[in-house]
Amino acid sequence: MPRETILVIGANGQIGTALLPQLQDQFGIDHVIAADLRKPSSDTGIFEVLDATKPDRLTDVVRRHRVTQIYHLAAILSAKGESDPIWAWNLNMQTLLNVLEVSRLHGIRKVFVPSSIAAFGEHAPKYDTPQTTPLDPATVYGISKVATENWSLYYHKRYGLDVRSLRYPGVISYQSMPGGGTTDYAVSIFHEAVQGRSFECFLAADTRLPMIYMDDVLRATLELMEAPESQISVRTSYNLAGVSFTPAELTAAIQTYFPNFVTQYKPDFRQAIAESWPKTIDDSVARQDWGWKPAFDLPRLTHEMITNLTTVYR
Ligand code: NAD
Repeated sequence: MPRETILVIGANGQIGTALLPQLQDQFGIDHVIAADLRKPSSDTGIFEVLDATKPDRLTDVVRRHRVTQIYHLAAILSAKGESDPIWAWNLNMQTLLNVLEVSRLHGIRKVFVPSSIAAFGEHAPKYDTPQTTPLDPATVYGISKVATENWSLYYHKRYGLDVRSLRYPGVISYQSMPGGGTTDYAVSIFHEAVQGRSFECFLAADTRLPMIYMDDVLRATLELMEAPESQISVRTSYNLAGVSFTPAELTAAIQTYFPNFVTQYKPDFRQAIAESWPKTIDDSVARQDWGWKPAFDLPRLTHEMITNLTTVYR
């Protein structure tokens, strides 16, 4: 089998920053191409400055490096997207269609494009949200994710492109700051706590949302991408669950390390977005198809975040 060369688009973001070293370990540092709008501050291996809305530039990168797999992580996220819906839609859709077209035309073997719990809306059950359910999202980001899922399915059915996807919950990580989503509070809160500060939360205390620790995200993504094609029954996007909690429960978990830590609640426009999303996710199809099982519950995730961020701020 020829050696794989992986292109990661949006590599400087919250997920790309953590995924890149894992892909470099798996495929070799010379076989992973990181790409984003700007060069990162530290050296991370092979890097291409790339605006994925530009198809010619994307084609050039794919051909020059003989890319065989693409991880497409560039997107405008939920909260940021609401500040300029048309811009967010255009960016999310243009980059997606460029990735799918270049993949079809240049024989890319596998494509990964994440979806999100933001694809769900008012008419999806809020608890144990099933794999297949109405998708009527409340944000432009969610609309773009539903369209992403349908385009992925279309390219698979029409052209046989091996596109795979996960509906990520809110991602919690210490490696970098999140990029403007509605679950960002669950990262920021740890940064404040380890610096001995109180935290102002933009969601109400009892807002339960599906979340996932980065290690689980990376393992799920790589396990999905490694699974034999015959085990992939979902070509829109797989439901994926980690752990669901509220800001009050997260605060209590942090207080086991910092008893004096306090959270004040000042819900803003993101509260309505959060309320349109599921509270818990049924990921039984991912479990059945390719053996998914999350490893990080709230106490373990809290321990990892505090331990790692304490080192960062020391
Ligand atoms: P992020 O905002 O942290 O990073 C996105 C990256 O894409 C940024 O580095 C940005 O510079 C880059 N980018 C933007 N426009 C680009 C363009 N035109 N060309 C090239 N690069 C461009 O996002 P993230 O949190 O890492 O999310 C990655 C993917 O996972 C996205 O598809 C997102 O929708 C999805 N997702 C993330 C979460 C989460 O909690 N982080 C949850 C659900 C789904």
